[in-house]
Amino acid sequence: MIKGRIIKGVGGLYFVDADNGIFSCNARGILRKDKIKPAVGDYVSISILGDESEKTGVIEEIHKRRNMLIRPWVANVDQAIIVFSIVSPAINLDLLDRIIALAEEQRLEIVICINKADLCSESEILKIKSIYEQVGYKVISASAFANIGITDIKEALAKNTSVFAGPSGVGKSSIVNRLVPSALMEVGEISDKIRRGKHTTRHAELLRVENNNGFVVDSPGFSNVSFSHIKRSELKYYFKEFGDNDKCKFLDCLHLNEPSCYVKEQVCNGILQIRYNRYIRFLDDCGD
Ligand code: GDP
Ligand code: ZN
Repeated sequence: MIKGRIIKGVGGLYFVDADNGIFSCNARGILRKDKIKPAVGDYVSISILGDESEKTGVIEEIHKRRNMLIRPWVANVDQAIIVFSIVSPAINLDLLDRIIALAEEQRLEIVICINKADLCSESEILKIKSIYEQVGYKVISASAFANIGITDIKEALAKNTSVFAGPSGVGKSSIVNRLVPSALMEVGEISDKIRRGKHTTRHAELLRVENNNGFVVDSPGFSNVSFSHIKRSELKYYFKEFGDNDKCKFLDCLHLNEPSCYVKEQVCNGILQIRYNRYIRFLDDCGD
């Protein structure tokens, strides 16, 4: 048996990327045995059918998943590259903070990318950069158009499996096309409705980043930013700068009005007021 990774699935046939090539495999028997359906991103063991040069096989085992994204439905994703532009479209920090919280919930590493740097001033970028670097995230300013920052993004993708997230029109497809020239993702003013239609009928695929052992998911994630599945008591874990909770008097402290709340004491002293305010606002959108 050899090990590989499912990079694409089409009607019950799975394409498995292994050291010695890409094998098309079916999953005969595995559904019954493991009671799970293979997903793009799964690490698998396959047995080779016939002569190896035919590059066909059978998936015998699905290795334990680190995580599973729902939209897109992809296993073992490490990282979210969250893309926004400052102008065209204008940046929406509320939405950025929501997407960050959702990515934290999925336990993804987070890199923030400010694209379309060619359309705004350095100082506008620095303002956003300083906020999110203070929180503890890597921030890359880029322009897919002017080919700025693409090397930094590529470096961040090395050895990881990354999903691109962010509103439409910020340049996600343009960036992916720079990183994986064979991707040929559609770029342009496609309406959201058409895009959504496209993505519901299409399955996600993993694309190999040129020469660095990274993979990117070819369809964007986190188009839905509802918090209704998140419990009020959980939200605080998705604000990285709050740290772990053991410095507050109460373990179940929501950092609202409880006495001796360490997080509240840190606001304006390590924790930014705008991020704290956002947390308070997001609490109202949580599930219970
Ligand atoms: P997506 O919806 O996030 O995938 O965005 P697209 O990649 O489809 O890009 C939306 C529009 O922005 C297209 O017209 C691109 O040509 C344009 N665009 C993408 N990146 C840049 C950039 O860095 N600078 C400028 N000025 N335009 C860009
Ligand atoms: Zn507290």
